Amino acid sequence: MTTSADIITKYQKYVIPTYATPNLVLVKGKGSRVWDNDGKVYMDFVGGIACQNVGHCHPKVVQAIQNQAAKLMHVSNLYNNEYHGTLAEKLSTLSGLGGKCFFCNSGAEANEALIKLARLWGSDEGKYEIVSMKNSFHGRTLATLAATGQTKYQDGFEPMPDGFLYAEINDLESVNKVVSGRTAAILVEAIQGEGGVIAATPEFMKGLRALCDEKQILLFCDEVQCGLGRTGHWFGFQASGVLPDAFSLAKSLGSGYPIGAIVTNAKLADVFQPGKHASTFGASPLACTAALATLGVIEEEKLVAHAAEMGKNFAEGLQEFVEAYEHVKEVRQYGLMIGLVLDQSAKPVCQSLRDMGLLAIPTGENVVRFLPPLNIKSGDIDEALDIIDDALADMHGVERASDDE
Ligand SMILES: *Cc1c(COP(=O)(O)O)cnc(C)c1O
Repeated sequence: MTTSADIITKYQKYVIPTYATPNLVLVKGKGSRVWDNDGKVYMDFVGGIACQNVGHCHPKVVQAIQNQAAKLMHVSNLYNNEYHGTLAEKLSTLSGLGGKCFFCNSGAEANEALIKLARLWGSDEGKYEIVSMKNSFHGRTLATLAATGQTKYQDGFEPMPDGFLYAEINDLESVNKVVSGRTAAILVEAIQGEGGVIAATPEFMKGLRALCDEKQILLFCDEVQCGLGRTGHWFGFQASGVLPDAFSLAKSLGSGYPIGAIVTNAKLADVFQPGKHASTFGASPLACTAALATLGVIEEEKLVAHAAEMGKNFAEGLQEFVEAYEHVKEVRQYGLMIGLVLDQSAKPVCQSLRDMGLLAIPTGENVVRFLPPLNIKSGDIDEALDIIDDALADMHGVERASDDE
């Protein structure tokens, strides 16, 4: 067996260090668990950053991918395949937007497609500006980086592409200030994932919808992280009852097989005409089968409702830590998109959680983020709460009774 040290050494020698060297080598996953190269098991509440809504290696997804891989993987969009239209129909129906879909390979690419769609739609009237929220995250391509309202990601890459303005989330006044006759679209995450698990309030979403209707501006949602059942709704925007004109998806759509999408309403369904946008790999037979199997599992196992219920239980447990521990300040919970807010960096707690066998990641500096699979069982939530309790006790220097109390 190759040792973890060998694997890490090779990584450091040959992989461009866009990430601080990951020193945990994962080799196997099943449901809510992953195993490292040394055989240690972890509860995985990262899930590839919200990519494993149906858990690792769900048998139905594995089977669909295996079967399709042996049949036909890729033909390009110059040819049709059996599943492209069916997957588009499924997302149109689930979202209630009533338009059409375009498929690509990642979240950034999906948002890039939204940005191009807005510009093309507004081109006759000179509308091209995109208003997004401060603290947002929309991807790492140049245009989506420009839409990302956090300068730390943009530093060194200036000048940013033109035509991007920022407003404060949950502050309609600040949106009004930057909207003009040049505004083509407003782009918002129903719940900011990388920004610290911060939700757009229903009032804000309704206000944006009204503003967009009044000024003929498109309303776009980035559902890359909060979509597909994660928040206890199929899509994050459904909590407010507001329908965007279009939205983006990626992360968990293919359970780890790369696929991104945009879903539009009827008004925007035919803005892109042949030659205006494309993706070689988009909607390959393999990607479509992975996505259809994933959506099938979410439906059959009623995971949207289950996420709402499990999220509530998890949050009740976490709330006790807010009462019990001085440095734990708040629980932010939307289904199974959960943030535990500390009054200090979340990194050390995430490290000790990992040492104790639970994977979680920080977001927005001082928030510990939990993204368990939507089919998590209550017993697993209880087990995770015990580990979190231990890590928080350590952090507070609290002496605890023995582990088997
Ligand atoms: C992860 C993420 C993206 C970018 O997706 P990639 O697949 O990494 O390009 C965009 N928007 C949101 C909200 C995300 O969480």
